Formats: sequence, structure tokens, C-alpha cells
Amino acid sequence: MKNLMYINGEWIGKNLNTMNVVNPATNEVISNVPYGGAEEARLAIEAAHDAFASWSNLTAFDRTKILRKYFDLIIEYEDELAKLMTLEMGKPITEARGEVHYAANYIEWYAEEGKRIYGETIPTHHPDKRLQLWKKPIGVVAAITPWNFPAAMLTRKMGPALAAGCTVVIKPSRETPLTAIKLVEIAEQAGFPKGVINIVTGSSKEIGEIFLTDNRVKKVTFTGSTEVGKTLIKQSASTVKKLSLELGGHAPIIILDDADIDKAVQGSIASKFRNTGQTCVCGNRIYVQANIYDIFIDKFTNAVKQLQIGNGLDENVQVGPLINNDAVKKVIYHVENAIELGATITTGGQNPAEDSNFYIPTVIKDATADMIIMNEETFGPVAPIQKFNTIEEAVTLANDTPYGLAAYVFTENIAKGTRLIEQIDYGIVGWNDGAPSAVQAPFGGMKESGLGREGGHQGIDEFLEMQYVSIGI
Ligand code: NAP
Repeated sequence: MKNLMYINGEWIGKNLNTMNVVNPATNEVISNVPYGGAEEARLAIEAAHDAFASWSNLTAFDRTKILRKYFDLIIEYEDELAKLMTLEMGKPITEARGEVHYAANYIEWYAEEGKRIYGETIPTHHPDKRLQLWKKPIGVVAAITPWNFPAAMLTRKMGPALAAGCTVVIKPSRETPLTAIKLVEIAEQAGFPKGVINIVTGSSKEIGEIFLTDNRVKKVTFTGSTEVGKTLIKQSASTVKKLSLELGGHAPIIILDDADIDKAVQGSIASKFRNTGQTCVCGNRIYVQANIYDIFIDKFTNAVKQLQIGNGLDENVQVGPLINNDAVKKVIYHVENAIELGATITTGGQNPAEDSNFYIPTVIKDATADMIIMNEETFGPVAPIQKFNTIEEAVTLANDTPYGLAAYVFTENIAKGTRLIEQIDYGIVGWNDGAPSAVQAPFGGMKESGLGREGGHQGIDEFLEMQYVSIGI
């Protein structure tokens, strides 16, 4: 593997300072990559800008051929990509393989969707005019991605951007550059022309600032925290850049008393403990209706006790390490605060050793709205549970947050479920489903969880400009 930056079809950066990539399961340095900055960001933008005319002039059918090949190759490299991901961010290997497929599917879906970018004819108001809506690629796209889904968050942006005819410059997270670089290496093998895909690693601040202020970048697509998202909004103002932002969440899981309790337990485990609790759509707070509260807690606690924790490379492991020790400290802080404010732990509640990045899967009962864990992303394997009496109360609790990404509802009653979902302000809802994400469906949040949607046929519109043309005849 190259472990370098890829700009204008060249692997560069050998002579730059480097930054280490650490395996969070062992704290060992597994590799290093160049520490690039403003200069490399500008070079990447220049390459993408130069490549735009020829890439956007290809027919969608020609671009599809390369994207299809890219999809096939990602699948071919499944084992290598999954292992890299587990090594650099700790994700259990079975989940990592799942992510490689999910990531590849975004390339395949948009390889097809690129052929379906339709304009419109608009009814005319004048016998001598014809009105049309044309669609065209927006231009150079800058993609900034997080560490928690190092493959899928990248292809969810690259797939539609490339299919629409845009060229891309990428900045992956410093925690997980290897998966992203490998994906670019595979793209080179698939035959994308030079300059169409470029990747820069290094200082997020320097690279980000150039991406956000250079006039040649027409669109920035970002996945990460709401805090950084807000900084990017401010930085983008000087060039009025189009932005798509997939930001943080604080997902409620609402379990009504007519729910199938076993289904609710399994769905809550799937939502809460996937990726060791480090997903933007992880259930963060579980609300259970009073008359099934105790039985749910018993069953849920028993199920959480069965989860296998360990190094993600072990095929049986379901819960790996957290990304780093700061992440563990944040989890400890949230749990301590909950206990101080009156919650009790039914299982877990500790990390095995001070410098360990692991945290034992934990269930907290009798959580209340004033606890930090009920308001801020914990990003760890801790499930706080609060009792509620009426559906109105559950709706108020669920909506009492600046976030609006994902929510989960468990009820077998169609009328109650429908009315409840209509009242909660979330972009994605899993109804009796702990894993609602799908490439063919739009993914994104309301409120401070973001702007725009990724995935589905909606996702490609984010990379297209509309041009209204009135033709006098
Ligand atoms: P983050 O700290 O916001 O970082 C995200 C990306 O932004 C990384 O590549 C990071 O680079 C870069 N970055 C940081 N500061 C920057 C700056 N000033 N200018 C430009 N780029 C900058 O988020 P994270 O910790 O990687 O990811 C976890 C967060 O992402 C959580 O809040 C989670 O909810 C959210 N997330 C949302 C979705 C969604 O679809 N809505 C999906 C996944 C994750 P460095 O790491 O190199 O500093």
C-alpha cells in the first residue's frame, strides 16, 4: 500500500513530515502518512479543476463503466479494506466487512443513478417561447470525512459526485487515513483519469480552510461533528459555497407498552452497540413506557451482558475499542455524571484499565433529562434508560434537543406509531427497526444535524446545478 497523498494522478508527499496511525485496540503505531497542508490542498484543487472539463463532458454511460469497475474492485478488495479499517479504528471485523459492502453499494447505486439525471420541460406561458430546466454538474467537490465510517462516508460522497460529472478532492480524518487512501488506490486501478480523484492528508485546519475559501471549489460535502460543521458554514461564506452537512445526532429510542419486547431489545442493541456506540445514528437515550419498564430493563441488560468485547480482529467480537483514550474519558464522564444525578448501573460501568481504550457495554436505569448523557453524544457503548407515562411525554422528551438525525420507535400499533412519528422531528426513523440505513434511501438530519441528504435518488441532486433556459422560437 502507498500511504501517500494522490494528486493529479501522482502519489506524492514522501518528503513531508508524517502523522502516525494508531491501532486503538493495542495503542501500537501501525503506519504513518504525510502531514500535508495548504500547499497540497491547493495542488489537489488545481488538479480537480483541470480535470473537470473532460470528466464532465464524458457521457453518463462512459462514467458508469468506470464506476461499475470501481464497485467490482472494492468488493474484490473486501478483506484487505475490512482489515485496514479494523486496525486503524477498532471496528469489529464482521462490521468492517459489512461497511465495505455498504460503501461499495453507494458506488454501484450512483453508477446507475448517473444515467437518470433528467431535466424538465416546463409549460410555456407564450406561444413563441419554450421553457426548460437543464441540470449540470456543480464542479469541483471537496469531501471531508470522519473516522467512524471511513469507507462508507467517503463513497456516499464520491459515488454521486463522480456520477454527476464532478471531480473530487478528499480529506479523510487523521484517525483513519489508510482506508481512504486504499479506496483511492483502488479508484486509480479502476481507471479514473488523472485529477478526477485526489486525496490530501494532514492538518484539518489548513486543508479545510483552503477547501472552504478557494473559488474553484464549488461544493463542500462534510460528515462530522456539529461543532466543526458550524465552523465550515462560517468559512464558506466568503465564496458562498454550496454545502452538504451530515452532522451529529442524539437519537431517542421510544418503546411503547404494546411493543414486541424481544424485537425492541434486539433493535435497541443493534442501534446502540453498532460500531461500539460510535455512530451518528446510535440510539443515545432509551425511553420506555412505565408498565413495561422493568421487564424491558431485565431483558435488555441480559442481552447486553452477552456482547463479546475485545480486539475487533477476533471474528467473535461484537464490541471493539473506542477510537482513542479521550473518547473513553468522555464516556466515563457521562456515566459518572448520570450516577451523581441518581441513575443506577445494571451492567458494565467501567473500563478494564486506565490506558485501555475499551469500555464495558453498560446499561443505566432511571436516567433523567438533566443528565449530560441524555443531551450530548456519548459516542460509546452506554445505554441510558428513562421511564415515561404518556406518548405526549415521550414526544416532548424526544424533541427536546437541537439534533434531529435519527429516531427509533417500537410499537405494534399502526395508529399510535404513525401519530408518534408524525410528531417527532427526525430525518430518519426506524419503526421496529434498529438499522434503517440503506443506499437507496435519503440519509440526513433536521435541525442542527445537518443540511441536505445523502443516498437515494435525492443524493445526486446535491452535486447538480439547475439551469433554467427560456428559448425564444
Ligand atoms: P469531526 O471532529 O467533526 O471531524 C470530521 C472531519 O472534519 C475529519 O476529517 C476532521 O479531520 C475534519 N476537521 C476537523 N476540524 C476541521 C476544521 N476546522 N476544518 C476542516 N475540517 C476539520 O468529527 P469526527 O470525530 O471525525 O466524527 C464524529 C462525528 O461525526 C460525530 O458527531 C458523528 O455524529 C458525526 N457523524 C455524522 C454522520 C452523519 O451522517 N450525519 C455520520 C458519521 C458521523 P481530523 O480528524 O483530521 O481533525
